[in-house]
Amino acid sequence: MEKICVAVRVRPPICHENSSSTLWRVDDNQISLHKLHGSPISGVSYAFDHVFDENCSNSDIYELLTKDIIHAAVDGFNGTAFAYGQTSSGKTFTMNGSSNDPGIIHRAVNDIFQKINIISDREFLIRVSYMEIYNEEINDLFAVENQKLQIHENLERGIFVAGLREEIVNNAEQVMKLLESGEVNRHFGETNMNARSSRSHTIFRVVIESKGKDTGSFGDYSSSDAIRVSVLNLVDLAGSERIAKTGTGGVRLKEGKYINKSLMVLGNVINKLSDSAKQRAHIPYRDSKLTRILQPALGGNAKTSIICTVAPEEIHIEETKGTLLFASRAKRVTNCAQVNEVLTDAALLKRQKLEIEELRRKLQGSHAEVLEQEILKLRNDMLKYELEREKLEMELEKERRSHKERDQYIRDQQMMIENLSSLVSDGDGSSSQGSMKESPIEECNNRGDDFKTPCFKAAPKAFVAKRSNYSQLPDFSPLPDSFSDVADEDTWFKINKGYIADLDSLQTKPARKFQSFPPEDVTPNYLNKKYKKELQNLKRRLEFVTEEKKELQRKLAEDLEVKDRLKGDISKLKQEALLAREMPQRLCDSVTSFKDTYEEVLSKMQRYTFDGKSSTAKLLRCISEIGSILFSTMETSISNTTHRHKLSSGNDSLIQEYNKMLSEKLKSTITSLILSETASSEDKQTNTPCSCNFEDIDFLNSFCYIYSLYFMGCVNSVVSKKGTPIIPSK
Ligand code: ADP
Ligand code: MG
Repeated sequence: MEKICVAVRVRPPICHENSSSTLWRVDDNQISLHKLHGSPISGVSYAFDHVFDENCSNSDIYELLTKDIIHAAVDGFNGTAFAYGQTSSGKTFTMNGSSNDPGIIHRAVNDIFQKINIISDREFLIRVSYMEIYNEEINDLFAVENQKLQIHENLERGIFVAGLREEIVNNAEQVMKLLESGEVNRHFGETNMNARSSRSHTIFRVVIESKGKDTGSFGDYSSSDAIRVSVLNLVDLAGSERIAKTGTGGVRLKEGKYINKSLMVLGNVINKLSDSAKQRAHIPYRDSKLTRILQPALGGNAKTSIICTVAPEEIHIEETKGTLLFASRAKRVTNCAQVNEVLTDAALLKRQKLEIEELRRKLQGSHAEVLEQEILKLRNDMLKYELEREKLEMELEKERRSHKERDQYIRDQQMMIENLSSLVSDGDGSSSQGSMKESPIEECNNRGDDFKTPCFKAAPKAFVAKRSNYSQLPDFSPLPDSFSDVADEDTWFKINKGYIADLDSLQTKPARKFQSFPPEDVTPNYLNKKYKKELQNLKRRLEFVTEEKKELQRKLAEDLEVKDRLKGDISKLKQEALLAREMPQRLCDSVTSFKDTYEEVLSKMQRYTFDGKSSTAKLLRCISEIGSILFSTMETSISNTTHRHKLSSGNDSLIQEYNKMLSEKLKSTITSLILSETASSEDKQTNTPCSCNFEDIDFLNSFCYIYSLYFMGCVNSVVSKKGTPIIPSK
């Protein structure tokens, strides 16, 4: 663990900034604030590793502050040197310098190449890159097209900027040229305080890889094959600034905000790191690109130096104090730098070879005898297994042969049965029906049953299971001839449900007349008798099946007949349903035509109505009254029908009542009219002419009758829903 090396550099006063009032005094490695031409102000005194006054040169700073870090970088340590301070305090001057007094970067580059030229036992590879962080975006200063680069981290490379151009360089001049070209791409801007103020943080990075030159000695992998990789960061920060002082606005203001923010994060990181290890909480490296890139340099694996530049003028006192406080905190930060050595593949291989050799040596020692015994034991075991395998193979072969023989026997038996059944079929015409081509025996044996149980049980100790329900099985299922070997119901159930039954628990009894399998005492005579018996059985079964088939055919014919009849009924019902569905529409049409007729009649009537007192006018009123009642009744009926309300018997009787009432009213009106007209015709012959004649009365009478018929027909057709109107008696 080592502390960060912190130094303060006081810039020479600038003439136009009221140079007379220099209040900061440098004394050895201390800097303190004094009253104007007077005593020091207590409490404002700081001590650092180095404090450089305005008379010091970049060379002094390099020699005292940075040189060690550069040399350590060549030896494999990560190193970082950065300049921190307010705008125009001399950061860029310190890092880049001038033609008369080159800055730290130039001196470092020269030094690196001088040093590696001196080291004769190592080979070096130097790569350089140059980037700036402008408005929190990383841009490549060697390749302007590489903008907004991202920071990544992996085990092999640690934290790195992806896509950043790295140039392999062989000498200092090459680096200087590259730096010049990169400097052109850097963001500068004019502020009140600095005509060429850096508006970005710049990081010049040198990656130094070195490998020991091969000495040719075998086994010493660590010196010749390990590669050292160190990263050196030389950082020129943008200056912290007070917006009011720098007098910036617009783009400069935006830049200033980003600069201040990232410097604030840097301050936070330094603050956290300067706390004692116990108090340290989360270090906010990721809060800014700057701190993330410089993470190893801040409290990590790196040797770090900070040069804090301050402006001596009175007007910058506050900023200078701020910088000195930052420097004080940074002084407390400790790093843990170590040489970064990476083993190459060749080195790993050599190391593994050595390990193998070591193991071999061990094996050749005390372990060898034990292993030999182990091997002998394993060999014996192997021989034993070989013998067992051969024995098993022989048994398997024997089993296969017996299986084949058994199959052959079954086939022979089947052929024999087929021959016999064809003989029987030839003798009996009824068995030649097309539907029964396959014999039940064949069917039984061809069902694809895994156990291939033949229909003829012949095993001497075969188990026969008793089943409670045979009805679901086909007729030709092998039924036990004898129940001498019967497993109980539970065992049967277990076997058929897939349980592995304990076969030893089944009680076996010797079969009485079963043949051995393959048969040992089979004589042709005996077989013939048995087959004949079987064939007779089969014939009987065939006859039974044929009968059954005939019966089924008859039933089918009957069913077909019933089906045809039902079809006819359904079509009739469908027609009626169609008619019923059309009924509301028909009724609507009827009402419309009725209305037309009604209006026509009324208009005709009006021709005879000269005043409201005549008999015709009375009749007209009566008809109009009837008409309105009829219309409302019709409308109700239609609405009921249309809305599919079931017409109840109550509705039915209501309509009948209406019908009756209207008929009577019509009849009485007509009768009174005839009577009054008769009287008026008698008057007519003697006195005044009448406004109505008997032709009109007849017309009205018949109209009323037709009208009532028509209405009743319509209503009835709806009520009965069968389209056959009920004509009322006159
Ligand atoms: P910063 O980078 O901190 O903003 P600069 O390095 O650009 O400031 O310095 C601002 C001005 O002061 C420049 O013109 C620079 O030449 C001058 N300057 C800074 N430090 C010194 C110094 N030690 N000796 C001479 N001139 C200096
Ligand atoms: Mg600068």
